Amino acid sequence: MDDLVMGRNVRGDEADDLPANLRRLASRFAVDWPAVIDVGAGWFPLLIRLDGQLAEIAPDYELHQCKSKFGALSFYAQPSDDPSIYNEEFVEAIRAAEWESTRTCEECGEPAGQYVIGLWVWTLCAKHAAEKNAQSEGGHPAGR
Ligand SMILES: [Zn+2]
Repeated sequence: MDDLVMGRNVRGDEADDLPANLRRLASRFAVDWPAVIDVGAGWFPLLIRLDGQLAEIAPDYELHQCKSKFGALSFYAQPSDDPSIYNEEFVEAIRAAEWESTRTCEECGEPAGQYVIGLWVWTLCAKHAAEKNAQSEGGHPAGR
């Protein structure tokens, strides 16, 4: 079982450690999608805020994917289970959160820059970028 669970993945159905507001986000995953919130804890406040905004615009919105990709939040959702409905405000809220994530440390939520470490793009504050670099140069990242 351990082989299947990556270090920072948070599964919606094993989400006891998540803040209550983030559990609400995890519960929005549509049935056909794995309920995995695959981002670092530094982005949790951003996600909770986004969830609140989206819930106001579209109370029954459904979530498909929520992950970190090339150092940015990748958030795929639609206002309802009808894929033909387009909501400009809904799309703009997601775009704004994704943009904000590129300036927010994924580890701690502090203001951040983007770094290429170990052939991957990370959005990290100076402190966490230095830590990640040290792990990467050691060649054997501890833990993960
Ligand atoms: Zn940080």
